[in-house]
This record gives sequence, C-alpha cells and structure tokens, in this order.
Amino acid sequence: MLAQRTLKSLTRAVGVGLHSGQRVELTLRPAPPDSGIVFRRVDLPQPVDIAISPEAVTDTRLASTISSGSAKVLTVEHLMSACAGLGIDNLVIDITAEEVPILDGSASSFVFLLQSAGIALQPAPKRFVRILKPVEVREGEGPNVKWARLSPYEGYKLSFEIDFDHPAVDSTGQRVEFDMGSGAYSRDIARARTFGFTKDVEMMRANGLALGGGLDNAIVMDDYKVLNSEGLRYNDEFVKHKILDAMGDLYLLGKPLLAAYSAFRSGHAMNNKLLRELLAQPEAYEIVTFDDEKSAPKGFATLARAW
Ligand SMILES: [Zn+2]
Repeated sequence: MLAQRTLKSLTRAVGVGLHSGQRVELTLRPAPPDSGIVFRRVDLPQPVDIAISPEAVTDTRLASTISSGSAKVLTVEHLMSACAGLGIDNLVIDITAEEVPILDGSASSFVFLLQSAGIALQPAPKRFVRILKPVEVREGEGPNVKWARLSPYEGYKLSFEIDFDHPAVDSTGQRVEFDMGSGAYSRDIARARTFGFTKDVEMMRANGLALGGGLDNAIVMDDYKVLNSEGLRYNDEFVKHKILDAMGDLYLLGKPLLAAYSAFRSGHAMNNKLLRELLAQPEAYEIVTFDDEKSAPKGFATLARAW
C-alpha cells in the first residue's frame, strides 16, 4: 500500500512574516491518518484550527491566506509547497502570529525542517485526486491573457510560463516544466526564492506590507538588475519560484493531484480559482489509492526518505 505520511517527531522554526514583519514561531507536529493539514493559531485566547481547503482561502492578493471565522494565516504557500514536495499528508502546524515566517524566501528551509523531523509512514492509504478531464480557468484578452489548466496525467507535472517585461527577468528562462517523477523537487524547485521590484516594495511598505522583506529573503530588482550581491540560485529562478508557489497553492486541495498542471502568468488567485472550478465539476476527477506501491506513479513511492 502507498501509505499516508506525517512527521516522526515535532520540529520548530522561528522567523518573521514577509508582510507583517512580525516575529512568529512555528511548531510542526505529527497528526493522525486522514486528519489532513491543519494550522492552529495558538496565540489567540482560544486556539483556532484552520484546516486547509480551497474554500478556506480568503485572500490571494499578495500571498495565499486561509481563514476560519476571523482567525487567519497568511503566506501559507511555501510551507505547503514543501509538504507537497515531500508528500506530507497529515500535520498540525501551531503558529503564534498570523503569518508563516518567510525564512529565506524559498521552500528549502521548510524541506530541511520536515526532513530533519523525519517522515513516518502511517497505516492508511494515501488518497490522490486523479484528473479525468481537462479543467481550465482563463482571464483577460490578448496581451493581458492568463490561464491555468489541469489535464489528465498519471503522475504529477507542472509547466509554467511567465511574461515579465524586465531586463533582469527577460534574460533568464521564462518557461519551466517540472515532473515529480524526477524526484528532484528539493534540488530543482525548493530553493527558488520569491522576488520583487524596489518600486513595488516601496509602495507596499507605504501600505504596511512587505515589512519583513529584504535581500536575505527575496530576490530584489530595480528597473534594470538584480540587487542581491550573490545573484540567482538558478538561471531560471523566477519561473521556478512560480512552480514552487503553484505546488503550494494546489496542495490546499488537501490531497495530492495526479495531473498535468500548466499555466501562463497565473498566480495565487487563479490557482485557487482553478481548484474551485475543479470541485465544481465532480465528473472531472476521482479519488484513488494504490494497494501496491509499485503501481503508483513514479516519484510518489520514493518521495522522500521515510525512517
Ligand atoms: Zn512565493
């Protein structure tokens, strides 16, 4: 049986929120089979649980925010991406403020945390959402068009294309395809950092946003070039970060996808819209498990070492 996964022991991280600039502590705890991934705001007078789901997403303007009542957690996508990359099904995430720490701006610190806690196999079959027919969302016309699509594929692969009019971005790869079957998430995707432009950062700060952002947790560009002295981690780091984000946004479905995702200029809002469109078409998917690990698509049985 291809089994569900949680952590072997609990692990902690401390950092600041990208937008709030607030200090925040995360404690990642093992959770029982079929309980899914749940954020727990432990700083509120009564702790509030927020289970991940497409419907829990209430704001996608700068990052993916999930809510339950008035309790919310901002910027969940990089941690969710690490969970997707390592195949974590069940987890409780205690958080002491309303924003997940940005750490180094990528998912690699979360991957390291999860790997160091150890990954445990659980006595329940891992459930996948297998796409049976294409589902697409699309916005805009001509040069403003953007779209995202899920198509049938017995595995999980993502292809993304960006179209920025900026000299530092245009000189890098603008299209990337990543297949989970490669087993290379940690190496090829997880290290890609978030990015921003100085002029936007100034505007965001004036509005009380990006207060925790800087050169140690983002690629920052002026009108011409990358300002980080160490340069880029990958030649195509920008578009790889969009894949990282999409993996995190799509993992809010609550189960891993068996699908090919493709997108042009999509972002958090459109990724969430795609999940909601999928759920609105029950004939477009089915839930599957694998009795025999060997029959599971490449990349899932050997997602990460399980101790
Ligand atoms: Zn991101």
